[in-house]
Amino acid sequence: MGKGTLTVEIKCTNCGSAVFQFPDNLTDDALIQCVECGKNVGPYGALKAAIQGQAHTVIGAHTETAIKPR
Ligand SMILES: [Zn+2]
Repeated sequence: MGKGTLTVEIKCTNCGSAVFQFPDNLTDDALIQCVECGKNVGPYGALKAAIQGQAHTVIGAHTETAIKPR
């Protein structure tokens, strides 16, 4: 991977807001728009990949503690 640090929280590169508008039909090509300034922050597919990369790490850490034999 070699992508360095990712955070689940995504912020608008223009205004720093973390509030985004997601279209009802959420495809990988759907553009996500910042609610604050209206900037398109990118297609959902790209954001999803970043989120899932981080989420997988978080879930993996939780799974280790969650699946303990009794
Ligand atoms: Zn913005």
